Amino acid sequence: MNKPLILVVEDDKPIRNLVAATLKMHDYKFITAENGAGAVLEASSHNPDVMLLDLGLPDMDGVDVIKRIRSWSNMPIIVISARSEDRDKIEALDSGADDYLTKPFSVEELLARIRVAQRRLVRADRSAEGSLFINGDLKIDLAAGLVYLGDEQIHLTPIEYRLICLLAANVGKVLTHTYITQKIWGSSWENDIASLRVFMATLRRKLESDPNSKRCIQTHIGVGYRMLRIDPADKEEK
Ligand code: CA
Repeated sequence: MNKPLILVVEDDKPIRNLVAATLKMHDYKFITAENGAGAVLEASSHNPDVMLLDLGLPDMDGVDVIKRIRSWSNMPIIVISARSEDRDKIEALDSGADDYLTKPFSVEELLARIRVAQRRLVRADRSAEGSLFINGDLKIDLAAGLVYLGDEQIHLTPIEYRLICLLAANVGKVLTHTYITQKIWGSSWENDIASLRVFMATLRRKLESDPNSKRCIQTHIGVGYRMLRIDPADKEEK
């Protein structure tokens, strides 16, 4: 499989060097930028496959970098933020980032996130058309509005169904509470977020009733939820 080209945007030189050395060691191709303007330039001239973006940049807010790039590109963007930048991280996800890493992060964490982003890349083209969504044991027949686990149909309430379709349409991507509640209820009051928790809990109970099936919905405490892409290869192992 071809290794993707990764754009590393980081103004902190030691971190940039560490990330670059890690990517090099794992045979990734990469380019780097030290600021927001450089990031936009490199992204538009090299069309990288994945972008690692530090949010605290000297010349521009990382969120603005995302907004600019999202106006013409759907490339996976993984934001890297310090713990004190939690609100920025959520804003970044709402602006179209796919995922996040909090500093300090381990090399394994970084590589795992890149692999998730790569998977979204590979599958993005295929899932565009067709009315069947399949992920591990989960199957959504979008035309009929029916959901199956293996061969068994599971009964979802209309809100649960909309939730699972939203997560499925964004598989691999972390969706914030605000994003989800806006899509489902058109608002994001504290009450909506509390309701979301309840609906997600019942949805997961229905989806994860079979202890042998892989958990596909991940909770990001204080941030939101993500549907993981279940690798067919992983499934066959059990
Ligand atoms: Ca920085």
